[in-house]
Amino acid sequence: MSPFTDLTKSQPSPRLFDLPPLAMDRDGLAEDFKRYYANTLGRDTDCRSAYYPYRALSITLRDRLMERWKRTRHAHDQAQCKRTYYLSLEFLMGRSLSNAMLNLGITDEVERGLYDLGLLLEEIASNEPDAGLGNGGLGRLAACFLDSCATLQLPVKGYGLRYEYGMFRQLIENGYQIEEPDHWMREGHPWELERPEYTQRVQFGGRIEIHKDQHGRLRVHWVDTQDVLAVPFDTPIPGYRNDTINTLRLWKAAATDEFDLREFNAGSYPESVAQKNSAEHITMVLYPNDANECGKELRLRQQYFLASASLKDVLREWTRLNGDDFSGFADKNCFQLNDTHPAISVAELMRQLVDDKGLEWDEAWSITTRTMAYTNHTLLPEALERWPVRLFENLLPRLLQIIYEINARFLAEVAAKWPGDLDRKRRMSLIEEGSDPQVRMAYLAIVGSFSINGVAALHSRLLRGGLFRDFYELWPARFNNKTNGVTPRRWLALCNPALRELLEARIGEGWIRNLEQLARVAPLADDTGFRDRWHQVKQANKQRLADLVREQCGVEFPITALFDVQVKRIHEYKRQLLNLLHVIHLYNRIKRGDLDNWTPRCVLIGGKAAPGYTMAKVIIKLANNIAAAINADPDTDGRLRLAFLPDYRVSLMEIIAPGADLSEQISTAGKEASGTGNMKFMMNGAITIGTYDGANIEILEQVGEDNFFLFGLTAEQIDEVRPHYDPNRLIEGDPDFAAVMRLLETGHFNQFEPGLFDAVIRAIRDPQDPWMTAADFRAYIDAQERAAAAYRDQPRWLRMSILNCAGSGPFSSDRTISEYNRDIWRMEPVAPDPVR
Ligand SMILES: *Cc1c(COP(=O)(O)O)cnc(C)c1O
Repeated sequence: MSPFTDLTKSQPSPRLFDLPPLAMDRDGLAEDFKRYYANTLGRDTDCRSAYYPYRALSITLRDRLMERWKRTRHAHDQAQCKRTYYLSLEFLMGRSLSNAMLNLGITDEVERGLYDLGLLLEEIASNEPDAGLGNGGLGRLAACFLDSCATLQLPVKGYGLRYEYGMFRQLIENGYQIEEPDHWMREGHPWELERPEYTQRVQFGGRIEIHKDQHGRLRVHWVDTQDVLAVPFDTPIPGYRNDTINTLRLWKAAATDEFDLREFNAGSYPESVAQKNSAEHITMVLYPNDANECGKELRLRQQYFLASASLKDVLREWTRLNGDDFSGFADKNCFQLNDTHPAISVAELMRQLVDDKGLEWDEAWSITTRTMAYTNHTLLPEALERWPVRLFENLLPRLLQIIYEINARFLAEVAAKWPGDLDRKRRMSLIEEGSDPQVRMAYLAIVGSFSINGVAALHSRLLRGGLFRDFYELWPARFNNKTNGVTPRRWLALCNPALRELLEARIGEGWIRNLEQLARVAPLADDTGFRDRWHQVKQANKQRLADLVREQCGVEFPITALFDVQVKRIHEYKRQLLNLLHVIHLYNRIKRGDLDNWTPRCVLIGGKAAPGYTMAKVIIKLANNIAAAINADPDTDGRLRLAFLPDYRVSLMEIIAPGADLSEQISTAGKEASGTGNMKFMMNGAITIGTYDGANIEILEQVGEDNFFLFGLTAEQIDEVRPHYDPNRLIEGDPDFAAVMRLLETGHFNQFEPGLFDAVIRAIRDPQDPWMTAADFRAYIDAQERAAAAYRDQPRWLRMSILNCAGSGPFSSDRTISEYNRDIWRMEPVAPDPVR
């Protein structure tokens, strides 16, 4: 029986849904847990697997979410409220279990109920695999936003793809990154609910036919297409203790039945099964490129699959309630595009409104440009997505026609405003001309959106003045800034229970919903008793991190040392290399006996390199080789350690951020759009050593220069210096720098692997080095020395740490989402009926 088969003779009574509220106390929770463990999962006393307790607990919690989820959906329907859809190719959710307990407010009761059964909650929770359906900051931002939307009771639904394989698992072998597939749902995924009744059909390929309809109007038909089914799977997104449960809907690709049948009748059964496979490949794997376009056909398929299925889903729901009257659609719906990845939605909404719903072009365009909003995430030119026109012609011929039409009308507008300015038309065209013409996806997103935002003040300013300057001159009012944030539920309350307790004891728990209240601990920075407690919490968290580093890297981190941490994707612009140059410099100092006022330091680096990014992979190898060399040298004992932590991911960051003293945010100024790792560290009391870049600037404004180790050229200075940048002169003019390069160039870190790091050395010495690593070397070394001196003065350091946490209020994603809602989405919150 297919899930689509309808009941015919049965008449479900309302009593079917007449259920008493589920117990939220220790005994009631334990009863359900026992039933699921023993009866549903059929476990016996001889089962020692840690997996089944996790499974039973997740079903127990899911039941509680389910009760509230239905009420939230009902409340949204009743209110006939405006809704927003967050379209994203990535949702880096991490684990769900502890988050569900925290937001339901039953962590303690669950812990006690399990304890009665001889089980430890922490051990059980650690068996959950991360849902790693994203690369880094952009995907994690989407996850933080969903948490804030539910907490603020905003009717926002996430739409994404249900990748079978998420972000690859990173192993380190002989210092090299090895990628392994992340089959994260192998044991099932208890949090999701399949909704086959909302399956959509997505078209690819085919050709265009034009017919006259009965009113003599020309209608376009996209025919002979190869269709793929999109089956939705819903994940509940609980708000913080407010009975609201929003939805993340992820699409899985499935083959259509009739396609198989046609092939089967033609006698080619194996071919038909192969076709089935190729349809299902669309959601097989996440592309592991961060801040880099990839230009692969399968990626365009993924993007269109998400856009088409999600828009059809929204239009289906609209038509169910409003019939074919779309006049009120734009007042009730908004689509937020997370970068250009879902930008094809602009053309696809036009296609569905014009071709499927029969609207006139102008009406459809008015609706589209009143519902689409675009968030840009990067200034790096190599990340700007462009698709070859010829790829569009084959894969999405109707979409290409629509893009041409949008472009023709748009360029007429440009010509009207700047008559005769052909160069401007060429610059602004959605089509980049050349031997292999390309569709510029960022421009499609801009032309189709009423709002265009960057993700930190500097980034938004650079967009207006640089990358999107022509568009800013045309439509200044469309441009705005929304500085990123992170959710204080996961990134403070959940990951740092010791600090949560300390904060609760002093300022209550209001900060969990309203992070600005953390400012109330600022006066306690001068209270020695509070500082001692703060220190104890930090040391305990450092021990937790040190245990992780020992297990994963085999390196001992003594917790009295300064924990200096850089975890993020490995990318040249993030300058892990600059960090490594500093480590080599410290090593040189040790070797030459320059040990006055030494601050013991443990440097931790972690992050994944895109599998095709050769330079990033060499940097990982370099970090591992430097670590091996210096950790093995007895002269470094008690003074310096370096470790590369494999497989950096959300669940590891939950241990890393609370255990860090110093947060490395050292990108070339003007290159990091915002950063969000910087915010997680700050919230947990780490002090930033950073450049004047992205949201670092706003962090600095919150805490002041006394509580931030600022260094390096500004974005403007980078541009000024670049034309006469001379790294070799900087190296020769600085004995410390020259000594660092000498050690690298004599092959000290690649003794049996000659030439291994030549590319790295060349990059540092290259006057064309886009990241200008050498330009900031001296300033960085000096800032590190200021950090070391501050750490030796423990009362001062603790004060800085407290003030950083106290100043982190503005970096809550609740603040970011409130601004999105105030300026772009303009929705009213909707509260469901409480369960009791
Ligand atoms: C927060 C986070 C990021 C983003 O870090 P940045 O330092 O802002 O680049 C990337 N990956 C994971 C797992 C994260 O939790």
